[in-house]
Amino acid sequence: AQKELLDYNGSGVSVLEMSHRSSDFTKIMNTTENLLRELLSIPDNYKVMFFQGGGTGQFSAVPLNLIGLKEDRCADYLVTGTWSSNAAKEAEKYGKVNVVHPKLDTYTKIPDPSSWSLTPGSSYVYYCCNETVHGVEYNFIPETHGAVLVSDMSSNFLSRPVDVSKFGLIFAGAQKNVGCAGVAVVIVREDLIDHALTECPIVLNYQVQAQNNSLYNTPACFSIYIMSLVLEWIKNNGGVDAMETLNKKKSSMIYDIINSSNHFYTCPVDVACRSRMNVPFRVGKKQGDETLEKEFLDGASKLGMISLKGHRSVGGIRASLYNAVTVEDAQALANYMKEFLKEHQ
Ligand code: PLP
Repeated sequence: AQKELLDYNGSGVSVLEMSHRSSDFTKIMNTTENLLRELLSIPDNYKVMFFQGGGTGQFSAVPLNLIGLKEDRCADYLVTGTWSSNAAKEAEKYGKVNVVHPKLDTYTKIPDPSSWSLTPGSSYVYYCCNETVHGVEYNFIPETHGAVLVSDMSSNFLSRPVDVSKFGLIFAGAQKNVGCAGVAVVIVREDLIDHALTECPIVLNYQVQAQNNSLYNTPACFSIYIMSLVLEWIKNNGGVDAMETLNKKKSSMIYDIINSSNHFYTCPVDVACRSRMNVPFRVGKKQGDETLEKEFLDGASKLGMISLKGHRSVGGIRASLYNAVTVEDAQALANYMKEFLKEHQ
């Protein structure tokens, strides 16, 4: 990719310079879409589109395009962490939002589906498949009894197989598992896309972008190109099944140490929904010993392990194990955690 930065495929220009309507870029768009279709076995009656505005852009786009599917203009939300909470707040601007389960005091679990009450007549049911900040991941597809299901998969996209046909819409910002910031993928069932509210900005309008193959306006060309390279890499490394095997292995290495540390390390998340992508934990005691956590982070940084600090809203440590993190990387962290435990126990 670095070689091609200045000279794409012998064309003498970079993807950064070429017209988004050139034949070279059209090929890149088609390759990216086809790879996504292949990797996820996306059925033919689904559109694959590329938007700017990141994951957060889709917090708005989803209600702007879908909340008008039914007369009542209401949507059901599962709120299990920061990102689904933000999405629900955004949707409230455009219709009525029902949180379908008792409100959670802490984002450490998925409320038992038997406690959910879905609203008859709601336009869709929304959830965040992996809560990046809190490390809560769904290991099941919510049962919606026929209602349109929408999922934010920004932080676990292509980390495991997913049956797209169970969803009305899946979206994912690229920057965790499929490339760099600037582009969000939207996979949406065709029959859902012509219900946008009149106030929907044209760049977020699913029907307009579908009709224009995501080229209504200039797309994030370079980010899409990078995505095509990452998708090729996933394909060449065994596809999503292989990613899942690796991600299970990597995350087990970290959770195993947490579980066997006699509460030196603690992960507050229910065992059934612990994320394979983001492992949040505290060091020293249940609420975390901040001095010890600082020492942990400093020591890790000396070993070249960076970005382990938990999100500012929750503190502690967070190990993110996206597809690009190797088993060896995870092993290095596991070894360090073992050593640190030995020294401080
Ligand atoms: N959804 C999830 C699950 C995320 O992890 C993030 C960002 O970390 C977002 C949405 C927001 O994405 P963006 O920063 O691209 O708007």
